[in-house]
Amino acid sequence: MPVPDELSAPYWEAAARHVLAIARCSVCGAFAVPPDQTCPHCRTTDPAFVFEPVSGRGAVRSWTVVRQSSLPGFAADVPFMLVDVELVEQSGLRIIGRLLDGPDAALHVGHRVTVAFEDAAPGIAVPAFVLGGDT
Ligand SMILES: [Zn+2]
Repeated sequence: MPVPDELSAPYWEAAARHVLAIARCSVCGAFAVPPDQTCPHCRTTDPAFVFEPVSGRGAVRSWTVVRQSSLPGFAADVPFMLVDVELVEQSGLRIIGRLLDGPDAALHVGHRVTVAFEDAAPGIAVPAFVLGGDT
């Protein structure tokens, strides 16, 4: 189960509504994952990140099949595929999530995916991906 902290709470709050929201620096406007105390783009120490909804569309950059899960919440689900996805909103903006098409999905670098949400518990949804989506 994800454990929201102060910085990530808005992310999980949006996810619970099946909205992918990414922190955006108030100074330079760049998205940052995960949000840090400083903006990785403009280096401001006062980014005042605001979480904004994004399209949830992106391209697969790499992937791995997880056969043994160290995360108790996912232990019953192995094997599953984790994909590293670059979102269309910004070059280099990458998030990692489960691919819901199964561990044997045929992938290639650049494969288009779209965010989907797994309802893990009441009020908690975890961003994941499914194959497909517009370019
Ligand atoms: Zn910035």
